[in-house]
Amino acid sequence: MPPVPGSGLAKGLAVTLRTMTRKSVTEQYPDVQPDLAPRTRGVIGLFEENCTVCMLCARECPDWCIYIDSHKETVPAAAPGGRERSRNVLDRFAIDFSLCMYCGICIEVCPFDALFWSPEFEYAETDIRELTHERDKLREWMWTVPAPPALDPAAEEPKELGAARKTADKLAAEAAQAAEAAEQQAAEQQDTKAEGDA
Ligand code: SF4
Ligand code: SF4
Repeated sequence: MPPVPGSGLAKGLAVTLRTMTRKSVTEQYPDVQPDLAPRTRGVIGLFEENCTVCMLCARECPDWCIYIDSHKETVPAAAPGGRERSRNVLDRFAIDFSLCMYCGICIEVCPFDALFWSPEFEYAETDIRELTHERDKLREWMWTVPAPPALDPAAEEPKELGAARKTADKLAAEAAQAAEAAEQQAAEQQDTKAEGDA
């Protein structure tokens, strides 16, 4: 049967009318910022204090886009008679985001929690070389990393928290002891002075 003249136009108008009444799914970026999930894979932040230069992230990165340089330093023995130790000192840590495929493997494999996802994504560049972010830039991203979700109140305390609390208690006890000793010394000095004056 030949098509009824004007039926195509009527169908087109029907589609237009139907979609006109639906809610728009587009976002007016950059006038309106997108509502991103907190763990969005935007960019990687480096908390370099936690990095031991173990090189795991660079070795596991499928794109070989993590560049790390370091040197060794000798640390004196902690106690008399102890052995000197050597430790790695970070000289360079960079990620080339023009190669990165945002797989997250580096973050997953880091045994020391030195790498984190930040939802920031506005770092497009006109020069591709600018997409290699050096350690200072990676540290800046760190401050945009959202706080982790709250712990389940029924969960066991993580061992890191227990260890951190033990260290904090030890430091507080040492500080209190030092303050007490200083107070005692000051009192003794005052007594000696008073005796001298008498
Ligand atoms: S997210 Fe994946 S590709 Fe990007 S630096 Fe990490 S391991 Fe490499
Ligand atoms: S895996 Fe973690 S600790 Fe090891 S080099 Fe990479 S960021 Fe540093």
